[in-house]
Amino acid sequence: MNGWVAVAGLGPGDEALVTPEVRGALDQATDVVGYIPYVARIAPRDGLVLHASDNRVELERAAHALDLAAQGRRVVVVSSGDPGVFAMASALFEALEAGPQAWRALDIRVLPGITAMLAAAARAGAPLGHDFCAINLSDNLKPWALIEKRLRLAAEADFAMAFYNPRSKSRPDGFARALDVLRAACADARPVLFARAVSTPQEDLHIVPLTEALPDMADMRTMVIVGSSLTRVIDTPRGPILFTPRSV
Ligand code: SAH
Repeated sequence: MNGWVAVAGLGPGDEALVTPEVRGALDQATDVVGYIPYVARIAPRDGLVLHASDNRVELERAAHALDLAAQGRRVVVVSSGDPGVFAMASALFEALEAGPQAWRALDIRVLPGITAMLAAAARAGAPLGHDFCAINLSDNLKPWALIEKRLRLAAEADFAMAFYNPRSKSRPDGFARALDVLRAACADARPVLFARAVSTPQEDLHIVPLTEALPDMADMRTMVIVGSSLTRVIDTPRGPILFTPRSV
């Protein structure tokens, strides 16, 4: 029984941003498990079984992957970006913790990927060059009050902030409330980056002052990065560059 599980990050979209390590695991895999659009990124081949499932069944998917590996299969669980950032790696370990003792003997590896926050930051310049934090704005897995508290305290601590899952059809209002919290705490000119579908053909970047940031500038394919009080824009003929200096 030489089964294993690799929880792998596919990066933000562009094939050139998939690491060779992840490619190697996919080449050796017998099974790929993941959310439908991520599994759709894997080229079918003989001997590879693709198991695509809906987004809301993370723990079942994780248990399925561990079960397959216990049967001797070589399983890659795919996430977009990095699997440890608001993604499947934690779900897999939750399933491991709650599952049969035998699963703990399995060969389980987490293979990092380029997370959306870093891909977006790189496209815009270097907005995360000083201290920053990452916040998931979805209240599917935590209460909204906790999100607001973290936003307020992060603004008070003057972190640059990277927001994942800023706004969805099922959560249309949260991001407007997040912007209100920030407006109460930050100067009007604070730069905000909206980076949509980074590294894909639909890529679209906008940098606006906080006062001009509107809720409908974000959707589920958008990364929002709010600068710290030090973050600034350099205007160039090739477009604006957003950066945060290294020192205060
Ligand atoms: N594990 C992923 C994040 C999953 S949460 C990672 O490390 O990137 C999903 C959120 O990531 C989306 O709502 C969006 O905010 C962000 N995201 C993922 N891919 C993106 C891309 N190509 N461009 C911009 N944002 C992206």
